[in-house]
Amino acid sequence: MDIVTRPRILVVGAGFAGVECVRRLERRLSPDEAAVTLVTPFAYQLYLPLLPQVASGVLTPQSIAVSLRRSRRYRTRIIPGGAIGVDLKAKVCVIRTITDEIVNEPYDYIVLAPGSVTRTFDIPGLVDNAFGMKTLAEAAYVRDHVISQLDLADASHDPAERASRLQFVVVGGGYAGTETAACLQRLTCNAVKRYPRLDPRLIRWHLIDIAPKLMPELGEKLGRSAQEVLRRRGVEVSLGVSVEKAGPQEVTFTDGRVVPTRTLIWTAGVVASPLIATLGAETVRGRLAVTAEMCLPGHDGVFALGDAAAVPDEAKGEKGAVCPPTAQHAMRQGRKVADNVIATLRDQPMQPYVHKDLGLVVDLGGRDAVSKPLGVELRGLPAQAVARGYHWSALRTNVAKTRVMTNWLLNAVAGDDFVRTGFQARRPAKLKDFEYTNAYLSPEQVRAQVEGAGPA
Ligand SMILES: Cc1cc2nc3c(=O)[nH]c(=O)nc-3n(C[C@H](O)[C@H](O)[C@H](O)COP(=O)(O)OP(=O)(O)OC[C@H]3O[C@@H](n4cnc5c(N)ncnc54)[C@H](O)[C@@H]3O)c2cc1C
Repeated sequence: MDIVTRPRILVVGAGFAGVECVRRLERRLSPDEAAVTLVTPFAYQLYLPLLPQVASGVLTPQSIAVSLRRSRRYRTRIIPGGAIGVDLKAKVCVIRTITDEIVNEPYDYIVLAPGSVTRTFDIPGLVDNAFGMKTLAEAAYVRDHVISQLDLADASHDPAERASRLQFVVVGGGYAGTETAACLQRLTCNAVKRYPRLDPRLIRWHLIDIAPKLMPELGEKLGRSAQEVLRRRGVEVSLGVSVEKAGPQEVTFTDGRVVPTRTLIWTAGVVASPLIATLGAETVRGRLAVTAEMCLPGHDGVFALGDAAAVPDEAKGEKGAVCPPTAQHAMRQGRKVADNVIATLRDQPMQPYVHKDLGLVVDLGGRDAVSKPLGVELRGLPAQAVARGYHWSALRTNVAKTRVMTNWLLNAVAGDDFVRTGFQARRPAKLKDFEYTNAYLSPEQVRAQVEGAGPA
């Protein structure tokens, strides 16, 4: 409780789940009912599903970074930083601010929505040589990197160097990897027309996945359609294949092929934020195990949702089924968690989260797309209209909607641009550098910090 004894609600993470929760709390709670605080390293909510379009330059980075301070009605206190540990017993969250100070933030209710990080495996060279597609900085960096490969190949007289700079590998046949490969392949094919010295046939994109199908959640027929679109465009799709080892100038596949390349993009799944492990609580494949009301059993006032939590999928009706890590669920869980926090504050019963999946939309760039809204299978332009319409309507603010629509129109009329900004040149920029996964404390360090001894 604060000096005016308002209960303190702390929300961790300003993604789909966290922002929906905070906005609902602001709307439904009067200011004297509770003090709401949000911990977030960034001053925006990132609309992740459109990230591949930033990487390919169809959208500017700013257009999918939705401001957290757009309206004067937003009254939540924002702490710029990341939570690096939570002591559930003491009800204290340990935060590293963006200026690297470590502070203890006490709470009465905590909503954990820190999302997920890229899932990597113990593959030699992977974290040092692969790029991810999970943050705005990564998308902007990958774009610059891909265009710089064309620039460098164009300038080189060495055929081997040219060949390796013009081959690109994307790992992960889910929607993130498929959209990334499709959008970037389109960018390079359009760009190469401006490089008369380069042979377009040297540009080769590989999309690989250890699973036997692309995007199995789309079903047999649509998955095959997506694969056909990619093959028609010249993307080499290899299924049942992964990476054996990765180096700075080549990647070895598990089927023995060695591909000379300077571009390995890793999108093979996500795993809950490392913050979850600092709690020392039960997890389901790394995600915090919560009830259908999104509460942590045995700990009053602790809620978790989104990619970080294993929320039972009540609509599926199968024992043990949990909601997939998608924005569709995270947003709706955010609103339901806010309602449940308010219900707890007002001594009312909580409600379980139930949502039937609305389907999937996959934008393959240009007029190519596949979608399955409410079970209806669509391809080509109708699928593209549904995909873009869905994302557009899901953007939170009118400013973001206008920016995105303007970018799409501009791109349709004027085509791609191939500007390499160079902003991030010579900075470390691989998987290990973007997601700060080594910033977290162990449960013992959290306890020491909370008890005043500082991290052990
Ligand atoms: C390329 C790509 C394409 C996708 N396409 C789709 C799609 O088409 N449809 C769909 O439904 N889903 C899609 N997804 C998945 C979807 O984006 C996620 O499921 C969704 O973002 C999860 O929401 P969340 O709020 O749990 O996490 P996020 O939206 O990731 O938000 C987590 C927030 O927490 C912050 N954070 C992280 N750690 C900390 C910390 N320690 N302390 C404080 N803050 C922290 C992060 O900065 C972020 O702002 C896609 C994902 C990617 C990467």
